[in-house]
Amino acid sequence: MLKLIIFGPPSAGKGTQAQRLSKKYGIPQVSTGDLLREAVAKQTPLGVKIKSYLDTGKLGPDDLIVQLIKDRVSQPDASNGYLLDGFPRTIGQSTELDKMTEIDLVLNINVDLELLVERAVGRRICTKCASVYHVKFNRSKAEGVCDKCGTALIQRDDDKEATVRNRLNVYKDQTAPLIDHFKKKGNLVDIDGSKGIEDVFLQMTAAIDRLSK
Ligand code: AMP
Repeated sequence: MLKLIIFGPPSAGKGTQAQRLSKKYGIPQVSTGDLLREAVAKQTPLGVKIKSYLDTGKLGPDDLIVQLIKDRVSQPDASNGYLLDGFPRTIGQSTELDKMTEIDLVLNINVDLELLVERAVGRRICTKCASVYHVKFNRSKAEGVCDKCGTALIQRDDDKEATVRNRLNVYKDQTAPLIDHFKKKGNLVDIDGSKGIEDVFLQMTAAIDRLSK
């Protein structure tokens, strides 16, 4: 059983690293952002309620998000653990998570906020297989096309600059305070997120592998 949180500001590389960790450790990546975007795309009742939050970068209501997570982690593929990406994001969500389960490790990505703006604005994603690229730091082989499935890449609406700055402010006000909470629980490890994708991944796997020693 391995339960992880990948934590950090928007565009810190959580999604990219989570995909790799998920593969290496055989646990599903549970991304609230991906689940919410999927709900919006399918126009489910949740999707209809949540769309305006996603478009503006505001956080969705805790009760909806917590229910979404509860449903997801009770699926059979999460029986050996999971990697939470983008959750918890408020003190309220974190309190609910503490009632639900014990988390083994919080990987806290530290990175300069201006670098994040550059990363977010250049990010491109595949709408079909959810692969993540960057126009400068992680280019697809053919411009604008997914390497894995050949689908056209898009920029997420919430990666536009004004929304990115708004999301960073939301992070500072509502999400960063959780770091103290995790520190008190003693399960937080700091990761230097200014390094390249491979280096960051190695920092993370080293921290996870120390758990079993
Ligand atoms: P992400 O892809 O994780 O950056 O999430 C994209 C957007 O989904 C956020 O800007 C929020 O509007 C919403 N969202 C994702 N996770 C949460 C969460 N844990 N609590 C509230 N809103 C969330």
